[in-house]
Amino acid sequence: MLLAGKTAIVSGAAGKRGIGLATARLFASHGARVAVLDLDEAASREAASSLGDGHVGIACDVTDKAACERAAGRVLEAFGSIDILVNNAGITQPVKFMEIDEKGWNAILDVNLRGVLLLSQAVVPHMRARRRGSIACMSSVSAQRGGGIFGGPHYSAAKAGVLGLAKAMARELGPDNVRVNCVTPGLIQTDITGDKLTETMKAEIIRGIPLGRLGEATDVANIFLFLASDLSAYVTGAVIDVNGGMLIH
Ligand code: NAD
Repeated sequence: MLLAGKTAIVSGAAGKRGIGLATARLFASHGARVAVLDLDEAASREAASSLGDGHVGIACDVTDKAACERAAGRVLEAFGSIDILVNNAGITQPVKFMEIDEKGWNAILDVNLRGVLLLSQAVVPHMRARRRGSIACMSSVSAQRGGGIFGGPHYSAAKAGVLGLAKAMARELGPDNVRVNCVTPGLIQTDITGDKLTETMKAEIIRGIPLGRLGEATDVANIFLFLASDLSAYVTGAVIDVNGGMLIH
């Protein structure tokens, strides 16, 4: 029980096969009370109730500052505290550089990068006041190797932005005992790729992975558990790869 008595928010956690729900489920199994945030209130509630009793599901579009503040307020009402924030919500779009239009750019940057800022800003005052907190942010191997897997250049840019933002947050919030870290997964089998990831593309990608398989949502959830728990008490500003060796620095 690595999270006994702790409370956590996981954004983008209502998708049945997603990394967010796998993380929420693992946190709950380690004793945390979890707030599932996602776009749809009913889906968020359903995901929360699938974790057992005592969890909450709340609609929150992470690109909306007021919605992030409202959601944080509702979590505080329900739990009384927030120990952990996992900034997991994200979207992708498999387009080439010259195909990126303003709408796509804004959508990808807003959810993947601005969302990390807004939801973190909604919980940091509380964490600072208590002088404790762990924030874990979802980046991607795409940020480190310049894409080339599924998402377009704007996705790489947004996820690289997450690395910079999180490292700067780690530096600024460390003196208040709030830790901020990132996870950089390779290709994980979830619904984010829709029907656009073909078997041929998968086989091609697996050829470049020393561990010889794509990742599972639980592979990433396990790293979020480490970052959320006191096992990582002296870890901040770190980036942990979960990519089966697809990128070895
Ligand atoms: P997913 O589509 O199952 O999960 C993303 C979730 O975010 C969905 O539940 C979606 O409803 C939610 N979401 C989208 N926009 C939102 C918004 N504005 N506000 C709140 N929630 C919103 O896919 P996933 O693969 O589990 O993705 C989770 C995260 O992992 C994303 O940030 C993604 O970029 C990142 N990631 C995924 C992979 C992969 O290969 N699957 C690799 C690296 C990083």
